[in-house]
Amino acid sequence: MTPPTEATQSYRGFEQGPIRPPSEARSLLIRVSRNCPWNRCSFCPVYKQTEFSLRPASHVLQDIDSVHKHVNTLKREFADSARSVPADLDRIAGAIPREELAAFEVAYHWVFAGRMKSVFLQDADALVTIPTQLIEVLTHLRGCFPSVERVTSYSRARTIASRREADLKAIARAGLDRIHVGLESGSDQVLKRVSKGVTKEKHIEAGLKVKAAGMELSEYVMPGLGGTELSKTHALESADALNRMNPHFIRLRSLALPPNAPLFAEYQAGRFDKCNDVAMAKEILTLIESLDSITSVIKSDHVLNLFGDLEGTLPDDKPRMTGMMRAFLQMEPDEQRLYQVGRRLGMFCGISDMQIPRAREAAESACRQLGVTAENVDRITDELMTRFV
Ligand code: SF4
Repeated sequence: MTPPTEATQSYRGFEQGPIRPPSEARSLLIRVSRNCPWNRCSFCPVYKQTEFSLRPASHVLQDIDSVHKHVNTLKREFADSARSVPADLDRIAGAIPREELAAFEVAYHWVFAGRMKSVFLQDADALVTIPTQLIEVLTHLRGCFPSVERVTSYSRARTIASRREADLKAIARAGLDRIHVGLESGSDQVLKRVSKGVTKEKHIEAGLKVKAAGMELSEYVMPGLGGTELSKTHALESADALNRMNPHFIRLRSLALPPNAPLFAEYQAGRFDKCNDVAMAKEILTLIESLDSITSVIKSDHVLNLFGDLEGTLPDDKPRMTGMMRAFLQMEPDEQRLYQVGRRLGMFCGISDMQIPRAREAAESACRQLGVTAENVDRITDELMTRFV
């Protein structure tokens, strides 16, 4: 691949991509490439209708320099301020040239909300960048912000697997601490059906390479992706892949189907039978029960997940975590419906929140207003979920 240069692309100003992992909500986002080089996963609507492109390293360095300049201004202006939110921000922002406002706003958010602790490299696959260029970006970033505690990125397993071990180690040494990989499923049947473009074995190879290079491995699993037909296989094969990788983090991000995801058309045509929340809870229970002899931290830090408070470290917290799904599955159907709707509307984070009188009353009121019944609860919760995709 020929690296892009300033001669082939002109600088378009400071750029931000559309997404980052939930755990990077307070991070500085630095865009090293645009969109997704694969872009064929049928459940993913994020980059459809867009084209992938690399950004020249010199442009990314300009973005970092812009943020650095504004961070220094903010630190200087508020060095003596006891306020957590500056009172005369308008005065400072008013003096910023229009073309620099985007970088200024990002710097402001990072200084005051993020405390300048972490950075996330966008978009979907930062490691597709030529290793020497990525190292140049990381070195410059670390030089500008030496107190940053964590730099992370997304990457595709196929890209990681194609990188030389020496390059991955050099990237880790230059300052990339953690890579988030979308495993989605450990089942080859599921991966093929959703056009993930990666096999289970390739996922395992890539995950082990990330760890061997000295970086943290964070694997995203997508409950529901196998539909009802492949639900059990999806859970068991995913657990097997994770058992063989022992990632530092296992993160859950449940399937939701917005109309602009190609899988939605399959669903509408009757070729994909979506799991409802009860089936999803059974699947997550099977997944976590099947995780064995590993020490990963499990996180359920996505708003789409049925159990928002599902979190713990294996193996010690496994009984407590599986107890959450069992508690849901043992509920009376009307209590299950109350939890589903309350969770999807943000009134409950976990099952224990059903004991909070105000939250429970709000969920009961919402169920009445929406006219929730046994027949329509799946449709209503699906509609509520697509608001977050
Ligand atoms: S690789 Fe990631 S960003 Fe790209 S299409 Fe698949 S899920 Fe979406």
